[in-house]
Amino acid sequence: MINAISSLPRKRIGFYPTPFHGLGNLSTAYGIRLFMKREDLAGPGTISGSKTRLSEFILGRALQDGVTHVITQGVYLTNSGLQFAAACRSTGLTPILFLTRDATRHGEIEQYRGNLLLNMTMDVETHFFTTSGGAYWDAEEDLARMNDAMHARKTELEAQGHQVLIVPTGGAHEDGFVAHALTFAEMIEQARAADVELDYVYHTIGTGTALPGMLAAKLITGSRARFRSIAICSYDDGDWMNPQIIVDRTKTVLDRLGVPAPDDRTIRAEIDVDQRFIGEDYAVPSAESTAAIRELARHEGVFVGPVYTGKGLAGMLTHAREGRIEPGSTVAFLHTGDTGNLFEIGQVVGAVTG
Ligand SMILES: *Cc1c(COP(=O)(O)O)cnc(C)c1O
Repeated sequence: MINAISSLPRKRIGFYPTPFHGLGNLSTAYGIRLFMKREDLAGPGTISGSKTRLSEFILGRALQDGVTHVITQGVYLTNSGLQFAAACRSTGLTPILFLTRDATRHGEIEQYRGNLLLNMTMDVETHFFTTSGGAYWDAEEDLARMNDAMHARKTELEAQGHQVLIVPTGGAHEDGFVAHALTFAEMIEQARAADVELDYVYHTIGTGTALPGMLAAKLITGSRARFRSIAICSYDDGDWMNPQIIVDRTKTVLDRLGVPAPDDRTIRAEIDVDQRFIGEDYAVPSAESTAAIRELARHEGVFVGPVYTGKGLAGMLTHAREGRIEPGSTVAFLHTGDTGNLFEIGQVVGAVTG
């Protein structure tokens, strides 16, 4: 598997393997052996996450193809947009962001904070779209307006002799899905070095870019680890994101690695998505997530964020309390990033008191 991955176009951007370490205090509190895999520390910037690995493969091929500009899109607080912008800056590509902001939920932008502040610091060309109500992927008109604008900008740049790559929301470009096979392979290796075998891998699922690669690697390595995915958006059949998309992407990864894919049912059986922790909406902090963020910080001095990883962690801790993680199990939580959003959404600690 590692050899097949080595033959794919790749530009080194992050610092890999990312750290993997025990969370001793939480392990004691919950009666499980808990580890954390730190994609949030992938680099190249201080604030990173799971999209940096994707960018190595997506931009690796783009650079080979002579691409000069990379356009990507997301919500104004996007982690993916930040990581792609940083990856572009580190490789000499020019990043361009198309960002939405739901005025009814988040109001007008009053101040550059969080990930947006970092994008502005990198001097990224940024286009804003105000939407109304709901996540933008639910609003077809808003989506069409933004797509038209992205393509118009692409055409304009091409007329000036540039070559442009558009990376879909969340870095969900098919060149990237293979990246997180490496995450899983690293984890297995790091767990072995720590003399444990993983029973469960927990992570936060959204645009479905990390699970397909990890799942493919699990099937290839025959690891016993089971995936538990905590969703930040709905994941039923027929939704914008759904289990079949993960199945199809897993097959894409296996195909790239030259490994025959099992039937869909076998892949599907590895997918376990819990939708109970979405809360009120995407990018709206939930009480459980806030409690989980603070619990982790208090016990371990480690930070997760309010949009993704806090909800994922809340799911994992609830499973531990409910016994869905059997006592004594060995569990890895994939820290996919989101720490920049702690500086965007102040509700995590509430108002200043005293
Ligand atoms: C994008 C993102 C996710 C969701 O990742 P997918 O693997 O694409 O589903 C989870 N956590 C963080 C911090 C993210 O930025």
